[in-house]
Amino acid sequence: MTDATTDDRTDDRNEAWKPATVAVTAGRPPHEPDQPLNRPVTLASTYVAGGDLEYGRYANPTWSAFEEALGALEGGRALAFSSGMAAVTTVLDLVGHDALVVAPRHSYTGTLLQLGDLEGRGRLRTDLVDITDTDAVVAACADAALVWLESPTNPALELADIERIAEAAHEAGAHVVVDNTFATPLLQQPLALGADIVVHSVTKFLAGHSDVLMGAIVTADDQLHGVLKARRDLLGATPGTLEAFLALRGLRTLHLRVERSQANATELATRLRDHAAIEEVRYPGFGGIVSIVLAPGAMAADLFVRSTRLWVHATSLGGVESTLERRRRWKAEPATIPDALVRLSVGVEDVDDLWEDLRTALDALPTA
Ligand SMILES: *Cc1c(COP(=O)(O)O)cnc(C)c1O
Repeated sequence: MTDATTDDRTDDRNEAWKPATVAVTAGRPPHEPDQPLNRPVTLASTYVAGGDLEYGRYANPTWSAFEEALGALEGGRALAFSSGMAAVTTVLDLVGHDALVVAPRHSYTGTLLQLGDLEGRGRLRTDLVDITDTDAVVAACADAALVWLESPTNPALELADIERIAEAAHEAGAHVVVDNTFATPLLQQPLALGADIVVHSVTKFLAGHSDVLMGAIVTADDQLHGVLKARRDLLGATPGTLEAFLALRGLRTLHLRVERSQANATELATRLRDHAAIEEVRYPGFGGIVSIVLAPGAMAADLFVRSTRLWVHATSLGGVESTLERRRRWKAEPATIPDALVRLSVGVEDVDDLWEDLRTALDALPTA
């Protein structure tokens, strides 16, 4: 019998299907009379003994449906977690005592805080690097046990050369993790580029509707999968069943949302570059996040984020609705992120409405 907790491929999936088809079809019940089209929300803390599931902290059929779909998109086996940070923490838990973790100096703030906390307690050592300086990152890999990558970074939108860094890390015997939250598996598949583990904040683009907190880890290595599954069992960082259902519901339209959000972001990045109030536009050329630096400074940026009407002033990102925030309003945000940087999470609304709202708010700003 297969391991039903992670690999019960009950659907009629064809290995040759393209990502859009996989997003719609993976993790569904088989096409048989009276089967529902979607796996139901299974509310269960325990199961009748003698099978593969056993207990609610170890397995849930609704998690499995989500895991099959995400695993198929990333090219590995997925594990669902209660949040992106639960996934991050579980991976960092694999690092041996006092071992070295190389990570971007502009990693997601939660990741930086977690690394700082673990280092402060003598649990591990960190080397925070400029992820765009590939030679420096490659050199840092020499002593590493784990190389943590995030590409594009949040909110600096820097890119890492995942392939070259993964090669160097593997030569040094280190594992490579990529936080793929910003790119999604539709725009970047880190496992195919040499990464050992992919981490997601499912909360963002994968779920996509600002109503779910969830995370995931994906790996193509069966042994690593087993180790990570065992860590999840013991840490208890498991998602709610309804959350897993909603995340999979969101994943069904990932390709449509990413396509529209990216098209909107590309257009807005172009228009923003020509506005006098904008000092810098950061857009890596793909994805739905654009970061802008406002010429008149941080106070003007605070005024700007409060004066839009369509764009919602809120943290988080990757929802169908457009949101924005000045990242340095958070004390934990690195001081190397410009004080007047505003991160735009571009949704799937009409691009002209989005632009009109931004332009009106920018036009009203006092000049520098
Ligand atoms: C939000 C985020 C996380 C953390 O995810 P949560 O679901 O909020 O716990 C990790 N990495 C990146 C890049 C994120 O944007």
